[in-house]
Amino acid sequence: MRVLVTGGAGFIGSHYVRQAVGGAYPTLADAEVVVLDKLTYAGNRANLDPVADSDRLRFVEGDICDAALVRAAMAGVDLVVHFAAESHVDRSIAGASDFVVTNVLGTQTLLQAALDAGVAKFVHVSTDEVYGSIDEGSWPETHPLEPNSPYSASKASSDLIARSYERTHGLPVCVTRCSNNYGPYQFPEKVIPLFTTNLIDGKKIPLYGDGLNVRDWLHVDDHCHGIQLVADGGRAGEVYNIGGGTELTNRELTTLLLRATDRDESFIQPVVDRLAHDRRYSVDITKISTELGYAPRVPFQQGLADTVKWYVDNRAWWEPLMRRAAIGG
Ligand code: NAD
Repeated sequence: MRVLVTGGAGFIGSHYVRQAVGGAYPTLADAEVVVLDKLTYAGNRANLDPVADSDRLRFVEGDICDAALVRAAMAGVDLVVHFAAESHVDRSIAGASDFVVTNVLGTQTLLQAALDAGVAKFVHVSTDEVYGSIDEGSWPETHPLEPNSPYSASKASSDLIARSYERTHGLPVCVTRCSNNYGPYQFPEKVIPLFTTNLIDGKKIPLYGDGLNVRDWLHVDDHCHGIQLVADGGRAGEVYNIGGGTELTNRELTTLLLRATDRDESFIQPVVDRLAHDRRYSVDITKISTELGYAPRVPFQQGLADTVKWYVDNRAWWEPLMRRAAIGG
């Protein structure tokens, strides 16, 4: 068994790889795990240090848009788990072309190579942001795609390309759409690690608009567990939402982070709202729960406390990344 993990040096991909190589997924117990990653500003070989000595892990540095390289990496692969993407909404507002190239063309390049190589399963990791914004209730997988940012539009486009390879060519593709992830090794441009590291250093934290945008928080370990359930048992051509079940306004989240770092409200710096800032995301996880037995397992309070502690204990990991974290850096 050979698994190709794209973006395996990023936040979520590296968690999946550490778990897979560490033996957390029984169906991958003996699998060779091949990571394909371009090592953009968001990719970091150090994220794989805990499993770097494993003889089941192989690292290929390269671009998912490079068809020849992708074809070579795909040889003998049974399962593709595709995480690689440009992933930060604010960067997509500052400039969208890398998002279209990597997220759309890169995904199509992988799908074509997987089809040519006869891959048995292709899991395309997407996002709940493809659905747009919802004031009440939760999206089922059948909801129309109404993305609002260049990032989410590029992810929606890649979802549709993935769907087309299943419908047209019969490539066994599943798409997962998850809510906001949190946990260790998340690049310090996203809200939880940005706020946490700023607060640890006694710096202010930039809170967008009125702070009332609502996000559903999903621990990265629950997300990767859900992805593996889909890899093992998801039906080809189907989409599966993966959620965490903890909805918070950004202001509520901020209060929890202030409390966890012993800081007070004076550290909040209100800033002008993000353009087209989606108000609320909420996925309905009935399908993956009933079909595949998924349920989030990490209680949010515990997961957040552990995450804050990880950033407190791992300054050596995040401090060198702060220079890269500036937009365009
Ligand atoms: P990340 O930005 O931390 O990591 C992305 C990884 O992809 C990096 O290692 C980077 O080097 C690599 N990469 C980027 N462009 C590449 C290319 N052209 N070729 C090869 N590798 C390339 O992202 P993440 O937060 O780990 O997200 C992983 C996936 O999950 C993405 O597809 C993202 O859209 C999706 N997602 C993330 C979240 C979240 O909360 N972080 C939520 C929903 C969906």
